[in-house]
Amino acid sequence: MPCPFLKEGRARYCHAAPVRKLILDGPGVAGGGRCASPDYLKCDLVGKDETRQNRCPHLEEIRVQYCGVSSVTKLVPFSDSQISSCMSNSYRYCDSYLTLARPHASSATASLQYAPNHLWLDVEESGLCHVGLDGFLADVAGSIDGVTFVTLRGTHCPALALTIHGVEWPITFPNPMMIQKVNTRVRSDPTRLAADPYGAGWLFEGWELPGRTRTGLVAGEQAAAWQAEERERLASEIHELQPVACDGGAPVRGVAQLLPRQNLVCVLQHFFSKRDWTVEE
Ligand code: SF4
Repeated sequence: MPCPFLKEGRARYCHAAPVRKLILDGPGVAGGGRCASPDYLKCDLVGKDETRQNRCPHLEEIRVQYCGVSSVTKLVPFSDSQISSCMSNSYRYCDSYLTLARPHASSATASLQYAPNHLWLDVEESGLCHVGLDGFLADVAGSIDGVTFVTLRGTHCPALALTIHGVEWPITFPNPMMIQKVNTRVRSDPTRLAADPYGAGWLFEGWELPGRTRTGLVAGEQAAAWQAEERERLASEIHELQPVACDGGAPVRGVAQLLPRQNLVCVLQHFFSKRDWTVEE
């Protein structure tokens, strides 16, 4: 599904000019000006021996797409835009979109796949994928003070370190992908990680490696059962470690902020290190 802010229109350009500059046609814009009238013969780019026509033969018109909410209108020819993230569900990770969608945090979609250390993977039909932290990790942390990206580009298992209540914790997505960029905004504003883990807090963007990137992940009902079991397991662990950090039997949001360092490291080790599944696959 394309972004609701994606617009379509017609633009024109001169293919005799050394640089292709697209000009959007629309209300209040003269449709072609001199180029669309016999006056085009006065243009320096037109050969003096060219036959007179009603409009310049070098004037081209094409369909374009552009973002209706960006402060800078960048026109993208329709033929080039098919792989743009504006054309797929990946618009959910675009900052312009998120700025307008706030204050609502994004929710987990049914298409997400999960790794056992509470990272999610979202793969588009085109193979474009995103990785982030799941809501369980966000709830445990309450707030995250910093993030360091260990892998920035190339074919790797996406890896980073989170700083939670003074503890720096490494966390690695178990499968490789071709990373093309990381969300640098979470470096300057790590509060996005726990506040909107499925939207503004995304971490890595890249391309799926067929047969590798999704290996061993769970989705749908299986993921829901696992998440419920993880919440029960956390409740029982916190109940033993720090009973005051529970409210009605369930750990409070941000329980990590209430744990002494040694107990926090235990929780991080038991839930967010590289490990196997705790439910039957
Ligand atoms: S740039 Fe962002 S807000 Fe604009 S159309 Fe694309 S995805 Fe939507």
